[in-house]
Amino acid sequence: MSLSVNLRHLEAHPVRLQGELPVKELDIDTRDEVIEVAKPLSYDIEVEKLDGGLLAQGKLALSLQCKCVRCLKPFEYRLKVNPWSRHLPLQGEDRVPVVNDCIDLTPLVREDILLEFPQHPLCDAECRGLPNPTAGKGQKPGGADQTESDPSAWAELNKLKF
Ligand SMILES: [Zn+2]
Repeated sequence: MSLSVNLRHLEAHPVRLQGELPVKELDIDTRDEVIEVAKPLSYDIEVEKLDGGLLAQGKLALSLQCKCVRCLKPFEYRLKVNPWSRHLPLQGEDRVPVVNDCIDLTPLVREDILLEFPQHPLCDAECRGLPNPTAGKGQKPGGADQTESDPSAWAELNKLKF
């Protein structure tokens, strides 16, 4: 069930390809533990024959299971490539491989979808990340601030009491 088009079908008219490409066929190695491909890629592509090649255009969509790099919260990232288009030469050095009159579009789709992967997935653009007492307050690094601030806080409380 790979994503391929038969050249003979294209002789007469453009071919529309619609469906889902299973995770296994898509076979993306994200090399990244914060991104996981857990669902099939859906595609809606029209392929037409041009002089010396093919033109594939349509749209691609894929849901990624991501982990926020700041707060580690898992979330779903909906990736879309719309419009997607790709010229497939049938001649010359860059020609696409043809096997039994068929051209496999999977490698092209894989290549282009990978380019759209988030570099640093965030659950929210405003995500503040995990609470961290030594960061985010604009204080200088080191424990000195904390040991000084605690007694003064108690001093403030004592003032209130009396
Ligand atoms: Zn987050």
